[in-house]
Amino acid sequence: MSSSVRRPPKRHEADRSLQASVRDLPGIGTKRQVLLGTLGIQSVGDLLVYPPIRYIDRTSFAAISDLVAGEARTVAATVVGFSLKPGRGKRLSIVEVEDASGRMRCLWFNQPYLKQVFLPGSRFVLSGTVRLDAHGPTMIHPEYEAFEDTDGAANEADTTSPASSAAGTELVHTGRIVPVYRTRPGMSQKQLRLVVKQALDTYADQVHDLLPDALRRTLGLVGLPEAIRSLHFPEDLTLADAARRRLAFDEMLALQTLFAIARKQKRQRAGPTPPPTGIMAALISRLPFALTASQQTALSDIMADLAGPHPMRRLLQGDVGCGKTVVAALAAAAVCASGGQVALLCPTEILAEQHFGTMKRFLEPLGFSVGLLTGALEAPEREQTSRALADGRTRLIVGTHALIGERIAFKHLSLVIVDEEQRFGVFQRTKLVYNAPGAHLLVMSATPIPRTLALTAYGDLDVTVISQMPPGRGGHTTRLVRENQRAQALKQMAASINSGLQGFYVCPALEESSSDLINVSAARAEVARLLAPGRGIEILTGRTPRAKRAEILEGFLANRIGLVIATTVLEVGIDIPSATILVVEQAERFGLCQLHQMRGRVARTDAPSFSYFMVSDEASEKARARLKVLEATFDGFAVAEEDMMLRGPGEIGGTRQHGIPDLKFASLPEDLDLMLRARDEAFRSFLGGEAPAEWHGWLEAVTGLADGSRSVV
Ligand code: ADP
Ligand code: MG
Repeated sequence: MSSSVRRPPKRHEADRSLQASVRDLPGIGTKRQVLLGTLGIQSVGDLLVYPPIRYIDRTSFAAISDLVAGEARTVAATVVGFSLKPGRGKRLSIVEVEDASGRMRCLWFNQPYLKQVFLPGSRFVLSGTVRLDAHGPTMIHPEYEAFEDTDGAANEADTTSPASSAAGTELVHTGRIVPVYRTRPGMSQKQLRLVVKQALDTYADQVHDLLPDALRRTLGLVGLPEAIRSLHFPEDLTLADAARRRLAFDEMLALQTLFAIARKQKRQRAGPTPPPTGIMAALISRLPFALTASQQTALSDIMADLAGPHPMRRLLQGDVGCGKTVVAALAAAAVCASGGQVALLCPTEILAEQHFGTMKRFLEPLGFSVGLLTGALEAPEREQTSRALADGRTRLIVGTHALIGERIAFKHLSLVIVDEEQRFGVFQRTKLVYNAPGAHLLVMSATPIPRTLALTAYGDLDVTVISQMPPGRGGHTTRLVRENQRAQALKQMAASINSGLQGFYVCPALEESSSDLINVSAARAEVARLLAPGRGIEILTGRTPRAKRAEILEGFLANRIGLVIATTVLEVGIDIPSATILVVEQAERFGLCQLHQMRGRVARTDAPSFSYFMVSDEASEKARARLKVLEATFDGFAVAEEDMMLRGPGEIGGTRQHGIPDLKFASLPEDLDLMLRARDEAFRSFLGGEAPAEWHGWLEAVTGLADGSRSVV
């Protein structure tokens, strides 16, 4: 790359070993490597910064006689007996242990090998939830760990002593504050914890703090090696929090550094050839409708960028249905007219296919050829598409992640458009720019975001907001439907569909599972009985094959199909204006912004439209109150604000849909002070000339982030 950031002469030896594959750790074979991969852990470094979701405090030991049913406790005890019994269809291992105060039983199902583990006389620390049965205190499947007693003061019930002093050997799973991670079947907490422990023992001394010391002290942040140790095995919970704060700062500083570099590079780069003057008026005259004033303003911002000396870096933000696509199409056409190529990135295949159709209809009459590149394409087709891009025949390519993933060659890439950008994430965006630094970038998002947070999430971009809806929208009614009104609401919906209207029916689950989520097949069976014979009904999910998908969308457009039953694939982008009815099952399972996006799919014309949000009886009062916001307003910004206030963006699934970057350690807006500090620091140090020497190691690491060759740490 031709970055303005000068790289320091050599890489740290140590950094290389943190890039080592987790395969290098003992006990990690192909199977576990793949499992860890699904958790986003490839390298030892990834593992070192894999955050626990919570901690369990097992620092003090309880005396067995003090155990209380229902409490989670840790006990240090000696094995006094082992027996194996046939239990309800499963074999039951019973381990009897005692301390000075009494005896306890521990039960395991189907693990006869434990006989070799719990040898009489050996000492164990056991952690689990206490039950009281006829035999006295019992733990089922407790976590356990053997420990040696060095001083022989074995059988005293020790209620104070942390692991290291009680045991002489260091405990991993018990007798300390223990981390709990998000994991997958096939990798138990205990196994994952051990792997982390091994990584720490072997590699922690190779973690180097890249943050200048003075800054670290000013901010009161702990050193990186200490942070990484305390992240997993903190001595107390305050230290765990200090670790999180430190890593959160690094993460936010990395982001802001990328923003600063992006801004600097933009200023140093010449943009592509400007579009011919007067082109926009000619293009607009081809549209079947007049642009809204808001759309016009957005277009003039964009045209000014395209005509300017540097590449555009712009966010186009506007509520679902405000008409961002046409603005993007006009910009694309202008760039094609100047001889450049355009890439349009979509988060789903369905949306990509739809945009492909739209762009084709608009651009091909102008003489610009449009292509599609998704994971669904067969190899020969991909091959052909890639060639047409490389030799410049294809002028606009619509694609999914496949477009970023593979190094697709363009003859003259001049504009990258990212639709529904909140689905991609900020690091993917910076990667994109990194791969095409001289091209214009236009990202579009329907996600409203408060101004201060916008700075933090889109610090590398200029922002344009479309604040107006196209005229003649027929008005939308949203109704929350409780279970006792559900049958009635479904009948009403079916009657509308039978009369010729069209709609979407969204379920939270794809197929039947052990959970109580309503799935698309079950919903189909139920609804089919209500629809008139011959009124088409189809299921559309992310797994529907491409040909079938095209057939469904076509049938729907032609109103041969009345109802499309779907999962949340609907949430993004789909534009079928004739659909005016939406039903969402178990609406409490979705985020407010998500639901708002969905109803945006059915409020696109001058016909009145309806959403029925089914709410289960199990939904909490809080969830119901949250949903009421949707009955009260159709304004996406208002919905987002209410949602943030009601659930706090830190809650799971709460951040991405607000367009706030998904950060591993930082949570916004709680960490806003740190984020602003990181921003100050990054923009002061990296926006100007040569970065100060103490930042070189940091810069090297972060530019490695941008080209994907490194992970954090
Ligand atoms: P979004 O901003 O959510 O991506 P779309 O670009 O899909 O919205 O536009 C929503 C619908 O509004 C589309 O059917 C589009 O053709 C239509 N539309 C866009 N701009 C206008 C306009 N100025 N006047 C009338 N209809 C418009
Ligand atoms: Mg859109």
